[in-house]
Amino acid sequence: MNLPGQILCGALITMDEPAPEGPQLIEVESGRIKSIRPAGNLGELDRSDLLDLSTLTVLPGFVDAHTHLDFDVLIGNENAQAAVPDHTLALRMANRGVINLQSGVTTVRLLGSRDFLDISVRECFDNNELPGPRIVTATRGITSSRSPHVNNAIADGPTAIRQAIRENIAGGAEFIKIFAGGSIGAGDDSTASIYCREELSVAVEEAHRFGRKIAAHAYGGQSVDDCLDFGVDYIEHGVMMTEEQYDRAADTGTWIIPTLRVFVAEPGISELPHWPDWLRQRLLEGRQEAWKSIEKLKASGAQYALATDAIHGELVEEAVVAASAGLTTLEALSAITCRAADVCELSDDTGRVKVGAFADLVAVEGNPLEDLRVLRDVKVVLKGGQIVTQPRENW
Ligand SMILES: [Zn+2]
Repeated sequence: MNLPGQILCGALITMDEPAPEGPQLIEVESGRIKSIRPAGNLGELDRSDLLDLSTLTVLPGFVDAHTHLDFDVLIGNENAQAAVPDHTLALRMANRGVINLQSGVTTVRLLGSRDFLDISVRECFDNNELPGPRIVTATRGITSSRSPHVNNAIADGPTAIRQAIRENIAGGAEFIKIFAGGSIGAGDDSTASIYCREELSVAVEEAHRFGRKIAAHAYGGQSVDDCLDFGVDYIEHGVMMTEEQYDRAADTGTWIIPTLRVFVAEPGISELPHWPDWLRQRLLEGRQEAWKSIEKLKASGAQYALATDAIHGELVEEAVVAASAGLTTLEALSAITCRAADVCELSDDTGRVKVGAFADLVAVEGNPLEDLRVLRDVKVVLKGGQIVTQPRENW
């Protein structure tokens, strides 16, 4: 049975209020949740289209609030990874879609892909030609010539920035991604601005003029100040922000999307062999800052969601790390489900188990609110009510 009409849940974590207690029965119609009710007398259930997950805990499919299908960040050397023709890259993107889906990630927010390949890949996923998560995409990231980065569009000056934004929107971008600061290896200071204030303010204005939110790559320092000054909607990474900057973000309603394991995974990027000493040092400093960032973020009250930044199949580890850095298990789980869906502007569609939302679900053994590590082994994944990983035969 690939498309169950009913799902029997041993326990259900909806990430929505009120929290149900005991076994629940989810009714699914046309890929969306039609009803949720206590399972009641199991003997009376029509089992012809029932998916029996009565030994498992069911919760929303995970949402990675910042990733890329074009590369795997832990391999390093993104230029070398990108030195392949489009058809090779598209096949890798499809493969990473499968890896994400199998790990329970049913939605990804993409922060920069080459030449609109993500739009083609999304079409294949949406049409069920290939298995993969839902995609919300910025299409091409926009960067200045001060920090060229593979697979992004370089735009210098207000006119070029406006043009790049318009081209992205015409090509299917649902939001805009710009680099306010450089990547970690760029220049003397990774937190310096790579756009002048006029350019960044133009980018925000142009995105908003077309009704699109704008996300900016920024670790801290002046690049974050600029984002806060000009009304950027989402600060991506932000792991080197000060307490004052987190507090300002809370005041301005700016979301922060930390990508912790890019820095804190051990062995991780810092341990890759090919870095010059100065860059390895910078990465190790970033690791220290990233570990400290969660408590500052939490204390500020700013809104946030967690993300891998292209560590495929390991979103759960971001939640595990964030919990050990100061979040509660519920806060960490929210940050890879409902809060991440909010960032994707899909609050009514996914990230919560509620009537009207897509039946994007995962099932695990045990209680993730007691131990997030049970999420590492998802037993069943459904996307839009369709089983995309099968239950084991002996259940
Ligand atoms: Zn990224």
